[in-house]
Amino acid sequence: MGHEKYQKNDIVTVTIDDIGNDGEGIGKADGYTLFVKDAVIGDTVEARITKCKKNYGYARVEKVITPSSFRVEPKCRLHRQCGGCQIQAMSYERQLKYKQDKVRNHLLRIGGFPAEMIDAVTEPIVGMEEPWHYRNKAQYPVGYDKNGNLITGFYAGRTHDIIANTDCALGVPENKDILEAVLDYMKENNVTAYRETEGTGLVRHVLIRTGFQSGEIMVCVVINGKKLPEEGRLVEKLTGLRLSKKDGNVSDGKETADGRMTHRRVAGISVSVNTEKTNVIMGKEIRVLWGQDRIHDTLGGISFAISPLSFYQVNPVQTEKLYGLALDYAGLTGKETVWDLYCGIGTISLFMAKKAKQVYGVEVIPEAIEDARENARDNGIENVEFYVGKAEEILPAFYGGTVADGISAFDKGKMSLADEQMRHPDVIVVDPPRKGCDEKCLETMIAMRPERIVYVSCDSATLARDLKVLCAGGYELAKVRAVDQFGHSVHVEVIIMMQYCGKEKN
Ligand code: SAH
Repeated sequence: MGHEKYQKNDIVTVTIDDIGNDGEGIGKADGYTLFVKDAVIGDTVEARITKCKKNYGYARVEKVITPSSFRVEPKCRLHRQCGGCQIQAMSYERQLKYKQDKVRNHLLRIGGFPAEMIDAVTEPIVGMEEPWHYRNKAQYPVGYDKNGNLITGFYAGRTHDIIANTDCALGVPENKDILEAVLDYMKENNVTAYRETEGTGLVRHVLIRTGFQSGEIMVCVVINGKKLPEEGRLVEKLTGLRLSKKDGNVSDGKETADGRMTHRRVAGISVSVNTEKTNVIMGKEIRVLWGQDRIHDTLGGISFAISPLSFYQVNPVQTEKLYGLALDYAGLTGKETVWDLYCGIGTISLFMAKKAKQVYGVEVIPEAIEDARENARDNGIENVEFYVGKAEEILPAFYGGTVADGISAFDKGKMSLADEQMRHPDVIVVDPPRKGCDEKCLETMIAMRPERIVYVSCDSATLARDLKVLCAGGYELAKVRAVDQFGHSVHVEVIIMMQYCGKEKN
């Protein structure tokens, strides 16, 4: 059903007075609500309607008539096409307010928390000092443009069409040289790119990860096959790159005028085999072509080794602040037992271990747990143990005192130690992916009844849903703080602390 007055392709004038979940502007034309892509709150725009529903419609900016005071000149000329930066045309200060409001709204509407309570426990969002070139990881799809030219770049919003661009303003400037070297190698050696619809061709993605502290860069080429032709030539190209303006040693890396770090260098080159027809980028198998199989980074004085398959926060500068808050919210004095669920390579676990009596980490990816154990060893941290498996399976297994068969790498011998301390920790930290925690995991957390629960979340909607469950289980919201990890995108990281209050609700 369309609208009685408007139809597709109509041009209307709209004043934007709100921001939607995907960063779009929201305004009314004659009482008809329109979601206007690329409009900034405060703008008056001429918009073209792209889709009409009975009570609301979608539109796109044709012309800005009166720009909002929050409108800024975007740094990237491709930001409107790209799916990555939805709100680059909005001032950074206004972006932060948008994110803070988004968290508040989710806690209010999905979590059911009263506004006064949220406002009483919320601390101001932690913004970035430098909201450009902050990402340490880039995943570039490789393919062809309309004329059949080999390109790499990014997916246009909501599609899998690749727009050529090797110079993303969020990633490190060195990515450009690396991507161009990979394309050169492909052209010179007649290496094909993957064609998603047919499932043919070889190179699918290039993953680049940079250790901001160490300067080490890992390049991983994801291929639809076992092997790249003339692998040695790719290695030659990448190791021959002069990424830094001058060679420096690791500790005196300085920024040059164009944003390059003087000590950055390719430290490892690998391929990942992914022959499945899937949206999942990485294959399960990684083979090193040259150099190291993982890169290093340092956070809060702890050094971490990171393999290509392991999750690692994309914004190391903000991550340090985030983990500092997690430690603060955990309220450790040295006597506590802590579970760190969804622990990845053990980043939060090792932060906590310095101040806790004992930490237990749980993570589903075996390679990440290998990294975590190595990281603990390398840093001489002994009061931490890691388990491979799903949080919703490992935690109940410990709580119930029985270990289900089939939980990989689970040390049954440890069960005699599954004593009161493990079953009743003082603090549980969770940091799940966007979909949030499994119900079984939440139930077990409630049954274990820790004094405090620290929840780190990259999706405030699922966070609010899970907090409602914890609240019904006897916990109250004690602290809320957003940390901007993803400037210019609509995503926001939040950390909260819940305290046991004994007021269970049925
Ligand atoms: N705390 C870590 C990782 C957070 S990302 C850090 O800050 O670096 C979320 C992690 O949860 C990923 O490493 C992912 O592999 C893991 N994960 C996803 N589902 C899981 C599950 N059901 N049980 C345990 N870990 C899971």
